[in-house]
Amino acid sequence: MFWGADQMSESAVQKAFGHKLIGTPFMKKMVERTLMRLPPKIADEIMKHCWFVGSFKDGWAFTIRQRDLKKGECLIFLSDELLGEDPRQIIWTITHEIGHVILGHRNSIGAVQTKSEIKRQEKEADEFAKRYLIAG
Ligand SMILES: [Zn+2]
Repeated sequence: MFWGADQMSESAVQKAFGHKLIGTPFMKKMVERTLMRLPPKIADEIMKHCWFVGSFKDGWAFTIRQRDLKKGECLIFLSDELLGEDPRQIIWTITHEIGHVILGHRNSIGAVQTKSEIKRQEKEADEFAKRYLIAG
Protein backbone atom coordinates (compact mmCIF):
# COMPACT_ATOMS: atom_id res chain seq x y z
CA MET A 1 0.00 0.00 0.00
CA PHE A 2 1.26 3.43 -0.83
CA TRP A 3 -0.34 6.71 0.09
CA GLY A 4 0.41 10.30 -0.74
CA ALA A 5 1.14 12.02 2.56
CA ASP A 6 -1.87 14.29 2.33
CA GLN A 7 -4.24 11.49 1.38
CA MET A 8 -3.41 9.40 4.40
CA SER A 9 -6.17 9.98 6.92
CA GLU A 10 -5.91 9.13 10.57
CA SER A 11 -8.42 6.32 10.19
CA ALA A 12 -6.42 4.86 7.30
CA VAL A 13 -3.35 4.81 9.53
CA GLN A 14 -5.35 3.24 12.33
CA LYS A 15 -6.61 0.53 10.00
CA ALA A 16 -3.19 -0.23 8.53
CA PHE A 17 -1.72 -0.62 12.00
CA GLY A 18 -4.33 -3.07 13.15
CA HIS A 19 -3.51 -4.35 16.61
CA LYS A 20 0.01 -2.96 16.68
CA LEU A 21 -1.14 0.37 18.14
CA ILE A 22 -1.94 -0.03 21.82
CA GLY A 23 -2.73 2.94 24.01
CA THR A 24 -5.11 5.82 24.69
CA PRO A 25 -6.95 7.60 21.86
CA PHE A 26 -4.61 10.58 22.44
CA MET A 27 -1.52 8.39 22.12
CA LYS A 28 -2.84 6.89 18.88
CA LYS A 29 -3.57 10.36 17.56
CA MET A 30 0.00 11.45 18.26
CA VAL A 31 1.44 8.41 16.45
CA GLU A 32 -0.91 9.01 13.52
CA ARG A 33 -0.05 12.70 13.32
CA THR A 34 3.65 11.81 13.34
CA LEU A 35 3.29 9.28 10.52
CA MET A 36 1.32 11.74 8.42
CA ARG A 37 4.36 14.05 8.43
CA LEU A 38 6.75 11.39 7.17
CA PRO A 39 7.22 10.31 3.54
CA PRO A 40 4.64 7.59 2.71
CA LYS A 41 7.35 5.00 2.11
CA ILE A 42 8.71 5.45 5.63
CA ALA A 43 5.23 5.59 7.20
CA ASP A 44 4.31 2.39 5.38
CA GLU A 45 7.44 0.61 6.58
CA ILE A 46 6.78 1.66 10.18
CA MET A 47 3.12 0.59 10.06
CA LYS A 48 4.19 -2.84 8.85
CA HIS A 49 7.00 -3.49 11.29
CA CYS A 50 6.46 -1.42 14.40
CA TRP A 51 4.31 -1.69 17.50
CA PHE A 52 3.57 1.42 19.54
CA VAL A 53 2.62 0.77 23.11
CA GLY A 54 1.53 3.13 25.86
CA SER A 55 -0.71 2.80 28.87
CA PHE A 56 -4.43 2.73 28.23
CA LYS A 57 -7.73 2.90 30.04
CA ASP A 58 -8.73 -0.48 31.45
CA GLY A 59 -5.22 -1.64 30.72
CA TRP A 60 -3.59 -2.09 34.11
CA ALA A 61 -1.07 -4.45 32.61
CA PHE A 62 -0.66 -6.38 29.41
CA THR A 63 1.59 -8.92 27.82
CA ILE A 64 3.26 -8.98 24.47
CA ARG A 65 4.83 -12.32 23.81
CA GLN A 66 7.97 -12.77 21.84
CA ARG A 67 5.94 -14.71 19.28
CA ASP A 68 3.60 -11.74 18.82
CA LEU A 69 6.57 -9.84 17.48
CA LYS A 70 7.53 -11.25 14.12
CA LYS A 71 11.14 -11.33 13.03
CA GLY A 72 12.32 -7.81 12.27
CA GLU A 73 9.45 -6.17 14.12
CA CYS A 74 10.11 -3.72 16.86
CA LEU A 75 8.23 -2.13 19.71
CA ILE A 76 8.32 1.55 20.61
CA PHE A 77 7.13 2.32 24.11
CA LEU A 78 5.66 5.76 24.84
CA SER A 79 5.51 6.67 28.52
CA ASP A 80 2.71 8.61 30.22
CA GLU A 81 5.34 11.19 31.11
CA LEU A 82 6.14 11.76 27.43
CA LEU A 83 2.44 11.86 26.52
CA GLY A 84 1.97 14.62 29.11
CA GLU A 85 4.33 16.87 27.15
CA ASP A 86 3.53 19.41 24.45
CA PRO A 87 2.34 17.72 21.20
CA ARG A 88 5.37 19.15 19.36
CA GLN A 89 7.67 17.43 21.84
CA ILE A 90 5.71 14.19 21.59
CA ILE A 91 5.83 14.17 17.77
CA TRP A 92 9.56 15.00 17.85
CA THR A 93 10.27 12.11 20.20
CA ILE A 94 8.17 9.61 18.22
CA THR A 95 9.97 10.69 15.03
CA HIS A 96 13.35 10.32 16.77
CA GLU A 97 12.42 6.75 17.80
CA ILE A 98 11.21 5.99 14.26
CA GLY A 99 14.62 7.26 13.12
CA HIS A 100 16.34 4.60 15.22
CA VAL A 101 14.19 1.94 13.53
CA ILE A 102 14.64 3.21 9.97
CA LEU A 103 18.38 3.70 10.44
CA GLY A 104 18.76 0.15 11.73
CA HIS A 105 20.19 1.09 15.12
CA ARG A 106 20.56 -1.75 17.58
CA ASN A 107 19.59 0.29 20.61
CA SER A 108 17.45 -2.33 22.26
CA ILE A 109 17.24 -3.22 25.91
CA GLY A 110 20.07 -5.59 26.66
CA ALA A 111 22.21 -4.65 23.68
CA VAL A 112 25.76 -3.90 24.74
CA GLN A 113 26.96 -0.71 23.11
CA THR A 114 29.87 1.61 23.54
CA LYS A 115 29.26 5.18 24.67
CA SER A 116 30.45 6.54 21.33
CA GLU A 117 28.09 4.22 19.40
CA ILE A 118 25.16 5.39 21.53
CA LYS A 119 26.17 9.01 21.06
CA ARG A 120 26.42 8.61 17.29
CA GLN A 121 23.02 6.89 17.11
CA GLU A 122 21.34 9.60 19.17
CA LYS A 123 22.79 12.24 16.87
CA GLU A 124 21.62 10.37 13.77
CA ALA A 125 18.09 9.93 15.16
CA ASP A 126 17.94 13.66 15.96
CA GLU A 127 19.08 14.47 12.42
CA PHE A 128 16.35 12.17 11.08
CA ALA A 129 13.71 14.02 13.13
CA LYS A 130 15.10 17.40 12.06
CA ARG A 131 14.94 16.44 8.40
CA TYR A 132 11.19 15.76 8.53
CA LEU A 133 9.92 18.11 11.21
CA ILE A 134 11.72 21.42 10.79
CA ALA A 135 10.18 22.21 7.40
CA GLY A 136 6.62 21.47 8.53
ZN1 LIG B 1 17.34 7.94 20.85
